[in-house]
Amino acid sequence: MKIRSFDTDKAILYLVATPIGNLKDITFRAIEVLQSVDKIYAEDTRTSGILLSHYDIHTKLESYHEYNQDLKADQILNELKSGMKLAIISDAGLPVISDPGYKLVTLAIKNDIAVSTIPGASAGISALIASGLAPMPYTFYGFLDAKHAKRIKELENIKYLPHTIIFYEAPHRIAETLQDMLSVLGNRSIVLARELTKTFEEYTRGNIEEILLELPLKGEMVVIVEGYKEEGKIEDPFQKIDELISLGSKPNDAIKEVAKLTNTNRSELYKNYLQYKNKQ
Ligand code: SAM
Repeated sequence: MKIRSFDTDKAILYLVATPIGNLKDITFRAIEVLQSVDKIYAEDTRTSGILLSHYDIHTKLESYHEYNQDLKADQILNELKSGMKLAIISDAGLPVISDPGYKLVTLAIKNDIAVSTIPGASAGISALIASGLAPMPYTFYGFLDAKHAKRIKELENIKYLPHTIIFYEAPHRIAETLQDMLSVLGNRSIVLARELTKTFEEYTRGNIEEILLELPLKGEMVVIVEGYKEEGKIEDPFQKIDELISLGSKPNDAIKEVAKLTNTNRSELYKNYLQYKNKQ
């Protein structure tokens, strides 16, 4: 089933990104859409009220949050069915991402109503690209469970995932969560990205044990965790050859050994290794 987003006379549900801290991180389109829709549903009308009045947006505003989303779903669906254009915003970033909205998206789709995204900031992906950890493949996890036993189970389920993982966490729970990560995932490299886009934005990089020593830390935070790496797997064959040579191997023996370990052609590896050394 195809639905076009730019058939302007039809009902539509816009998912509009709002800033994650810095009021300037909003797009021209977001402002335009928020000004033009029939109604905006916001997670917290007071928080969004500040943003909307900053941009001189006077569209009708109503609440739609975790605790009333089931009750409001029918009302919103009926409004869409009657032809209204609606926008959903959350307190920060993208609605639906660790925020309400998913249920409405599925309901709208089921009823052949257009759903369109107005892209912008999101804390997780913003933290990932500046983290320095492998950007791809990645898994967005969001919040782990607040209870220790459930959190441990969740971490065990993803222990062998070879992807960089994006977590959200609250400052009052970060110490417990990092302890649990350390016990289940091991002492991996992580990045704690705090207060993104705000005056006190800060990235703390290190392994989990090192970051634990930096706590307590306040503010909003994203935790980016390095993916699972097979023990003994050779990430950099040239580095491994150098390492074996420095440990006393003859160059030919080192290349032969690494070719075997990485299941690569020996003369090909030799040629590439020479090129790599010539560039150094
Ligand atoms: N929908 C949002 C998004 O697209 O990123 C996420 C909302 S979720 C309820 C709130 C969590 O996002 C915070 O607890 C924190 O983990 C993360 N977050 C939001 N803003 C942030 C910021 N400026 N810096 C770091 N983390 C942030």
